[in-house]
Amino acid sequence: MLGPVFLAAARSSGIRRVVSAAPVTRAMVDRFVAGEELADCLAVVSALEQRGLRVTVDHLGEDTRDKQEAQRNRDAYLALAEALAGTGMGERAELSVKLSAFGQALPGGHDIALANVSEVVEAAAAAGTAVTLDMEDHTTVDSTLAIHAELRKRFPETGAVLQSYLFRSEDDCRALAEGGARVRLVKGAYDEPASVAFRDKREVDRAFVRCLKLLMAGEGYPMVGSHDPRMVAIAQELARRADRKPGEYEFQMLFGIREAEQQRLVAEGHRMRVYVPYGTDWYGYFMRRLAERPANVAFFLRSLVTNG
Ligand SMILES: Cc1cc2nc3c(=O)[nH]c(=O)nc-3n(C[C@H](O)[C@H](O)[C@H](O)COP(=O)(O)OP(=O)(O)OC[C@H]3O[C@@H](n4cnc5c(N)ncnc54)[C@H](O)[C@@H]3O)c2cc1C
Repeated sequence: MLGPVFLAAARSSGIRRVVSAAPVTRAMVDRFVAGEELADCLAVVSALEQRGLRVTVDHLGEDTRDKQEAQRNRDAYLALAEALAGTGMGERAELSVKLSAFGQALPGGHDIALANVSEVVEAAAAAGTAVTLDMEDHTTVDSTLAIHAELRKRFPETGAVLQSYLFRSEDDCRALAEGGARVRLVKGAYDEPASVAFRDKREVDRAFVRCLKLLMAGEGYPMVGSHDPRMVAIAQELARRADRKPGEYEFQMLFGIREAEQQRLVAEGHRMRVYVPYGTDWYGYFMRRLAERPANVAFFLRSLVTNG
């Protein structure tokens, strides 16, 4: 039951200072994050490409506190889009963004985030690729889906993320599947209240399957964002029933997690895209990865005690 504690800690600046300064943290961060600089990330992207993997790159940043920081995040993405254009990977290297990094939580944040992300989506299109809007906590879903709908008027390939733990997501899946959208389905990584989300893992899994059925049977492009072998197997079966060929949906997993499984899916002829985060603002992302798996939490706490 340490998961929720780590998710709360992900938003605490005091704990952030302690965790960031702990010597053991760096080695664990390196498992999940592809370095701090753009050059580090490009080296990882190139290595993944050589192994037949696609990527979606995330310049780490979230919960931006002022407009200037939002603009710096936007500029980092513009540089990233330009660098990805240089790789010639086209849609095999796309971008993932968190709208809170672009100012969504500031006063008037919806419009600020829309203006910032629009520039990034245009730059991605010029690089022959697309952007997927990550989904953050439940208070942001309406704004994020409205921005997604707005962006799709000019850039229909812009992707959205839906989280199966939210009660509302089945309806959102239905709407986006009917609208032909690219949708990454995930279980959900934030600590949500029981008033809006399933808290029981089996319920979240069952909802994932219901959502997947809607996406696979729909008109859009499903992106199956899970490391869970059961969800991967069910996705393959649902794709077969919907008569979808391997290029008509894809699997996605996070950098550093279940790499052998990623490779196995590529060898079977599936599209497999790795979510590659890089940058200095890794704290929130790292804490969510720890919270997802009790073994990660236990290992981290043991290392802190032994080394600290
Ligand atoms: C490509 C991608 C993008 C994502 N984008 C978002 C997003 O925008 N918003 C959002 O809320 N969430 C996002 N997530 C996270 C997601 O919501 C889940 O928290 C995460 O994927 C764990 O769920 P799971 O489906 O892998 O299944 P689980 O049942 O949690 O895990 C299945 C198995 O995967 C392995 N595993 C899972 N997580 C870890 C880990 N951290 N460390 C080591 N092994 C692990 C373990 O072997 C575990 O038994 C994303 C996930 C992926 C793969």
